[in-house]
Amino acid sequence: MTLMECSVGVEDLVLLEPLEEESLLKNLQLRHEKKEIYTYIGNVLVSVNPYQQLPIYGPDFIDKYRDYTFYELKPHIYALANVAYLSLRDQDRDQCILITGESGAGKTEASKLVMSYVAAVCGKGEQVNSVREQLLQSNPVLEAFGNAKTIRNNNSSRFGKYMDIEFDFKGAPLGGVITNYLLEKSRVVKQLEGERNFHIFYQILAGADGQLLKALKLERDTSGYAYLNPEASRVDGMDDASNFKALQSAMTVIGFSEEEIRQVLEVAALVLKLGNVELADEFQASGVPASGIRDGRGVQEIGEMAGLDSGELERALCSRTMETAKEKVVTALNVTQAQYARDALAKNIYSRLFNWIVNRINESIKVDTGEKKKVMGVLDIYGFEILEDNSFEQFVINYCNEKLQQVFIEMTLKEEQEEYKREGIPWTKVDYFDNSIICNLIEHNQRGILAMLDEECLRPGVVSDSTFLAKLNQLFSKHRHYESKVTQNAQHQYDHSMGLSCFRICHYAGKVTYSVNSFIDKNNDLLFRDLSQAMWKARHSLLRSLFPEGDPKQASLKRPPTAGAQFKNSVAILMKNLYSKNPNYIRCIKPNEHQQRGQFSSELVADQVRYLGLLENVRVRRAGYAYRQGYAPFLERYRLLSRSTWPHWNGGDREGVEKFLGELNLSSEELAFGKTKIFIRSPKTLFYLEEQRRLR
Ligand code: ATP
Ligand code: MG
Repeated sequence: MTLMECSVGVEDLVLLEPLEEESLLKNLQLRHEKKEIYTYIGNVLVSVNPYQQLPIYGPDFIDKYRDYTFYELKPHIYALANVAYLSLRDQDRDQCILITGESGAGKTEASKLVMSYVAAVCGKGEQVNSVREQLLQSNPVLEAFGNAKTIRNNNSSRFGKYMDIEFDFKGAPLGGVITNYLLEKSRVVKQLEGERNFHIFYQILAGADGQLLKALKLERDTSGYAYLNPEASRVDGMDDASNFKALQSAMTVIGFSEEEIRQVLEVAALVLKLGNVELADEFQASGVPASGIRDGRGVQEIGEMAGLDSGELERALCSRTMETAKEKVVTALNVTQAQYARDALAKNIYSRLFNWIVNRINESIKVDTGEKKKVMGVLDIYGFEILEDNSFEQFVINYCNEKLQQVFIEMTLKEEQEEYKREGIPWTKVDYFDNSIICNLIEHNQRGILAMLDEECLRPGVVSDSTFLAKLNQLFSKHRHYESKVTQNAQHQYDHSMGLSCFRICHYAGKVTYSVNSFIDKNNDLLFRDLSQAMWKARHSLLRSLFPEGDPKQASLKRPPTAGAQFKNSVAILMKNLYSKNPNYIRCIKPNEHQQRGQFSSELVADQVRYLGLLENVRVRRAGYAYRQGYAPFLERYRLLSRSTWPHWNGGDREGVEKFLGELNLSSEELAFGKTKIFIRSPKTLFYLEEQRRLR
């Protein structure tokens, strides 16, 4: 049977024949056309975003999938969630669900579907209901503050998220812990054309009643704010006002007090107002350029809301204090520097507010009991990114994906190996691309790119992005996975398109050229001390708590770790966490760039298939035996192929399978009889069986 004869393609890509990129794409396309958005690679789920509501979710489907085993029904995200949940509950194996894919591919929707499935099947009772509600309601809160409309996705998560959901021994939910990664804080002060700032700002402006708006000292019209892109204030199909109501009620359900909600909104409003603080040229008596605030009213209002002397704020924005051992020198900032300081402050307030919110949710959902917990982790994190201009953010995101790929290959192979061992079948070694050389290039403690960047950031003297690049070029000139204009030599094809300030990494998913501009700055992630000290003086208790380092008593504290070091550290913790659990994969694919239903761009999907390493996945998965099935269901499906087993068979399941397969004259290489499962080496054999079955 060929692909085309099979009207909806194969449900499991492991059965694809021939196994090539082209046939894989055709299969996904065919299934997408038939609205079959889910396809397996063994126990991995591939999900193609349908961009339309399909009638395949909700209580009826949940009931259906909870009663069947994995392969008995069509591929579905509920089937995956069911296997993970049952294995956690009944076999006591902690689970993690890793959801990857590029922006708009459907990761967040998938994570919500998994959560709603688990919520529906995990038990009943008042206590369970209240925990369940709190866990589910964390989504609208995180989305309000962490999601935004981008060109690719109207509801794009601008942070990575990992959530551990914890259960008791019976499988009832107890609570959870959320970890967030790298919020895209630059969005607070600037958005690309056609994109919006974080949803929360529009939600407040559209949804707050007159009284609240007045208290926040805001005007309803979005066009009055410098931090909000004027040409993109609305999103089709998104109701900011009703989302604001939903946000408030979600926060209440989670346990935020009225006072806390008010303070959170005030801090968000402060950020918006900070954007409107206009800075103008001024000159000191000596003629040295300085800056001042053009219209004092905005600063006045910020001061009132924050409980802060507005003169103090103005000083912090427009000057910088340098402390040496002997003296304090105050220098005036010019307009550009003052604007930079203002934006840095806005970004810092917002990203710290976001962290505070995540911590606050965690406080509510954390589990206090000392009893042993069962854990299901759900990871919804940005996929591999190759943009036109790739910077520090893409670099760390791609590093994280490189690590996830490593986990993926190692754990898939390990799981295969373990299954063979359990079933008593000999293991044959599989060749695969080991990407640890690339991980090392980036993360090696002394000689990795991140370590070099830190060294450059901490080194006294004149450092710049170009001294950093020069260092890389020198160190990695011979590295197989590193290229730059300077190191390009006989082993690399000369490429005129690469700028002088760029370096390129050959990732497992493809080559990415990074521009080193602002690497140092972004890695340093420093806020002028004048600003943190000013914030710490605020009487607004939430705002003040966001800037503990502004406390003069803490001023001598060591420098905080760099952004790169923090990220590397959190990735390491994440990896350790994932390695301790049984993995379940959801690979999300976006079928077109236009958020349109019914369109499938093979080229776009081909890129994603490559970034997700799907072919490699299928190869590893069927390196030994492509297909395996428990004896009982296998016998049930195929016993009609032999008179010995059809219509009646009274023997054991395994004997039955041996009996009818024995009569089919299959090569002995093709089959292996494990302790509980039959293993079939090539998909062709399975197709042959299916074909025979159809002919009966
Ligand atoms: P990002 O990385 O930008 O956060 P993402 O992978 O999380 O992207 P989602 O926000 O989950 O993408 O999905 C984008 C949009 O695609 C959703 O808002 C929804 O409109 C649609 N979508 C995704 N999955 C499904 C689905 N299973 N059924 C219907 N529509 C879906
Ligand atoms: Mg998302």
